[in-house]
Amino acid sequence: MTSLFQKYLQQNNYTQFDLKAILFDMDGVLYDSMPAHAQSWQQTMEELGLKTSPEEFYLHEGRTGASTINLIFQQNLGRNASEEEIQTIYERKSELFVKYNTGKTISKAAEALNFVKLQGLKCVLVTGSGQPSLINRLESNFPSIFTPENMVTAFDVKIGKPHPEPFLLGLQKGGNLQPNQALVIENAPLGAESATKAGIFTICVNTGPLSDKILEDAGAKLVLHSMSELLGIFPEILHITSTIRNN
Ligand code: MG
Repeated sequence: MTSLFQKYLQQNNYTQFDLKAILFDMDGVLYDSMPAHAQSWQQTMEELGLKTSPEEFYLHEGRTGASTINLIFQQNLGRNASEEEIQTIYERKSELFVKYNTGKTISKAAEALNFVKLQGLKCVLVTGSGQPSLINRLESNFPSIFTPENMVTAFDVKIGKPHPEPFLLGLQKGGNLQPNQALVIENAPLGAESATKAGIFTICVNTGPLSDKILEDAGAKLVLHSMSELLGIFPEILHITSTIRNN
């Protein structure tokens, strides 16, 4: 595993890591909410007679609502949606999401956040989500971890993933950090692409139906399969990042 971190330092011209924060995505990393997102998007589009595939919303996870809607409109109708259409469609999707989402957290996510905090590192949330039903629940599910000062949500971003903007904002909220002062925990290809473009070492926890290769191709330097696996190797990751040098 050390070689992956070594390669990152070489490719990005850093002599070492200087970790101050871990940037966490929300859906599929902290909350087991992706099945409900995919189901509610698919049903919303079906109600409009628009065709989508079951994997589509996993591939596009992380995009803003407007961007997702325009993408499906372009595929089906060859045009973007109007502002009004975007608003109506996103409202319907959100309504169905609240109905289908169980609020279940990803196993060991809370333990992973607490581990990071105990190491004296800051946890920063970087999500494209604008769903109050989950964002408002963070404090009760993961007490004393996130405050508005260390959260980037759909309300902060203009462009959204896969653009690096959300993770660059995450570095800012982490304390005006450089990319080698953070690690990213993601689950989605567009999230991995966004974080990698922001210059940050990206670990993907593959909690969905996509292949590991899609995540690696998107920029993930390390692909794991559960938060439990991440929790297990976190001490080793922190040991590597605090000791390796690129001379
Ligand atoms: Mg996600």
